[in-house]
Amino acid sequence: EAKSASQHSYRFFEPQMNLALRRFVETRDALRVGLEQAEFELYYQPQIDLLSGRVVGAEALLRWRRDGQRLVPPDDFIQVAEESGLIASIGRWVLQEACRQAAIWHASGWPHLSVAVNLSAAQFRQADIEQDVAAALDASGLDPRCLELELTESLFMQEVESISEMLMGWKARGIQLAIDDFGTGYSSLAYLKRFQVNRLKIDRSFIADILHDEQDRAIVQGVIQIARGLGLQTLSEGVETSRQAAQLRRMGCDMAQGYLYAKPLSAPQFASWLRHRAGRSTAGPSRDEPPS
Ligand code: C2E
Ligand code: MG
Ligand code: MG
Ligand code: MG
Repeated sequence: EAKSASQHSYRFFEPQMNLALRRFVETRDALRVGLEQAEFELYYQPQIDLLSGRVVGAEALLRWRRDGQRLVPPDDFIQVAEESGLIASIGRWVLQEACRQAAIWHASGWPHLSVAVNLSAAQFRQADIEQDVAAALDASGLDPRCLELELTESLFMQEVESISEMLMGWKARGIQLAIDDFGTGYSSLAYLKRFQVNRLKIDRSFIADILHDEQDRAIVQGVIQIARGLGLQTLSEGVETSRQAAQLRRMGCDMAQGYLYAKPLSAPQFASWLRHRAGRSTAGPSRDEPPS
């Protein structure tokens, strides 16, 4: 019923309006205010090359400082944003801000860092996402090769015909494409062949118990092997311990992201994290210690 609420416009709460719908309307209206008041922030979580230990980029993760106070995580509002259509404007802001921030890193001593931006399937239906991506790159001057777009498996299931030209166009410009949470959706291996994304992000549910669960290990090893056979990179999400990182490196996983390295950090926190990490190594900002 949340869907229909986005199509009609309720001015006040009917007493019989059920709680779920009421929550939806409240959150939607607060999100509108949030957009006007610039209450959104991006946090950045580093992505590490497992062989060299270098920081290669960061994933931009959306936060909402609701009423200028508590920090609300995306799982608490993204669905409302999608069902209300607000994801189009929010997503446009995310692209602009992430590219702007990455250009700042490039100008301040980290010229190779990439930034990964999450795109939900709803954005492809509701926004002119092609235009939004192009505009964010133009405004920031960011090298397109340093922008990575994280797509979901559901996108490939639903929208594949209508977006295939767009994806090819992005690839032709050098924009990187990743599949997020790989293995949790209705994975079809056919689209991997057809679309040649750059990277598979292995969902953290397979990583959490990888040291002790043989089945998880088998799945991860299988994904890595398929990716290698297709010439794609793999990144493991939710890496929390150095033993997990070592295991994944042995298994041939290329990259990792998780609390082991850093939680998602505000832009200033991320910059000081980079400086601190560079300071620990002898070779300057572009080199890093391998994870232990
Ligand atoms: P995701 O893209 O799979 O992002 C990874 C999530 O895992 C993040 O949650 C991150 O904080 C969390 N995480 C990272 N490392 C670890 C770890 O070592 N252990 C554990 N337990 N968790 C870890 P977050 O930031 O709450 O984001 C949740 C989801 O919201 C994201 O999942 C993504 O699907 C969505 N999202 C975030 N930002 C955006 C955005 O700008 N646009 C859209 N459309 N979706 C977004
Ligand atoms: Mg993601
Ligand atoms: Mg993910
Ligand atoms: Mg996820």
